[in-house]
Order: sequence, then C-alpha cells, then structure tokens
Amino acid sequence: REHCLDGTGKLRNFLASSLDHFHNKVRSAISSSTQIVKDRKDREDKISLWLDEFCRELSEVINLPRSDLKGIEHQEEVTDIEFLSRAMAEALDDLKEKLMEELSEADLSSFSRQPHTILAEHFSGCWAQCPFCGTVCTNTMRDHDGDHQVVLHRPQALMGWTWVVRFFFFEFGTHKLVIDICSSLVASNCKFKSDCGRWIPYKRYRDAGPPYSTWNILPDSSMQVYWKWFVSRFSTQLEALYDQKFEGKGKIPESWRRITKQEALSKLDK
Ligand SMILES: [Zn+2]
Ligand SMILES: [Zn+2]
Repeated sequence: REHCLDGTGKLRNFLASSLDHFHNKVRSAISSSTQIVKDRKDREDKISLWLDEFCRELSEVINLPRSDLKGIEHQEEVTDIEFLSRAMAEALDDLKEKLMEELSEADLSSFSRQPHTILAEHFSGCWAQCPFCGTVCTNTMRDHDGDHQVVLHRPQALMGWTWVVRFFFFEFGTHKLVIDICSSLVASNCKFKSDCGRWIPYKRYRDAGPPYSTWNILPDSSMQVYWKWFVSRFSTQLEALYDQKFEGKGKIPESWRRITKQEALSKLDK
C-alpha cells in the first residue's frame, strides 16, 4: 500500500528492476534452450525440443503453457534453431525497450482507482498495517475494538528501515537494513525514531503514540521461513528499492540463503 501511495518513484523503481530481472530470465532461457538443443544431435524435432526447454526454463518465473506455443512449432518457415533464438532475443529486447519507455511516461499516480482500494474491497476485515513492518492486522472486523495485532511480523527491511548509530546528540545513518522483526525488537534494548523525531525504546513502543500505541506487539523471536527466504531471494531488489544495503548488522545469515522456494512455500501452508 505504501508503495502505491507514496510517490511513484519507489513503485517505478520496483517495476523497472522487476522488468530487468524478467528480461534476464528470458534471455538466459533462450540461450540455454539453444545450447541444449544444439547438443542433441539425435533429435529431429529440434523446434519442439527447443520450445519444451524454453517453457521448462521459464516455469520458475512465468506459467507459460507449452500448448500456447504449438503455433510456432507448426510454422513451416521455422526450422533453424539459430534463427529462432535470434528472433526471440531481438523481439525480447524490443519489447523491453518499449515497456521501459511506457514505464517512464506512465503516470502511475493516476490509476483511476488506487490498487490498494480495489484490493481492500475484495477482502473485508481490518486493514491497519504494523507501523514497523507493514504486516496487515489479522482481525476480521473492519473497525474492531482493542488493539491491532498479527501473529507473525516480518523483517523491517521490507519497509526500508535502517540502523542508525547514535553518539551523544549525533546520529549517523548506516544505510544498513534491519532484518529483525518487530516482535523480537520489542524485547531488545534498541530504540526507534518516532514520526515526531523522538527516540523511543522498543520496549515502550506505545509511548510513541498512534499508530504505534494502537498495536499490541508481543515479544516473540520466531520468524517465518517464508520471510527469510523472501529477503534473501529478493535482497538485490530490496537494496535497489530503498537504496540501502544488507550489510553489517543487516547482513543476511547464510542459513537464510540455503532455504529453497519450496521450503518457504510449504511452511506457509501450515
Ligand atoms: Zn510488525
Ligand atoms: Zn486491526
């Protein structure tokens, strides 16, 4: 929600870096499919083999049904793999350029209806977000009594929070992202800067007033495997989005990097 509301810069950066990521994926799918097919001297149906490989390579980023590409296979002219891969790469580059152009001209603030409004209408319940990590309140009532609450918070890096070193009256921004979660920080001796610029101990976060005071954040250090995977998988994108680094106090643990997408998603179902 923040990204849609707060200026179009962040959203634009995010879209541009996603586009870049996708472009690289497709490029590498094109070249690896070509390589695989070239090595298979035994197969006659090279085009169809190439398309099989191409769809398989991309299955991680996009669901491209192999059946959608039947048309290409049966075009008489397409028999040369080199030609196919060159044509695909050129078409891809053109497409990327066109999208980048459209992206730079697009006025993202002028969605006729803001994306988060559309989403909110589809899901009833409370939409308050944790002021630290942005996780949405789990209460199923829109204007419920009592505090907002979520069971599992997520790393604050997702909202772009960074560590600041304080020395007497001086403050030094470290540009190092916070990978900790709110529920473990409220048990720590760390402080945060409230909206009015006051430093408040996490242990007494309610002193910062609303929206902090409207949340019940219980001390709990358990972090979902999903967020560990997400932060390490998209660390480059997050660094680019906020122009900060996962370094020093914000270094991503090696163990997070070893989590596979399957592990992350399977834990989410439980
Ligand atoms: Zn939180
Ligand atoms: Zn709530």
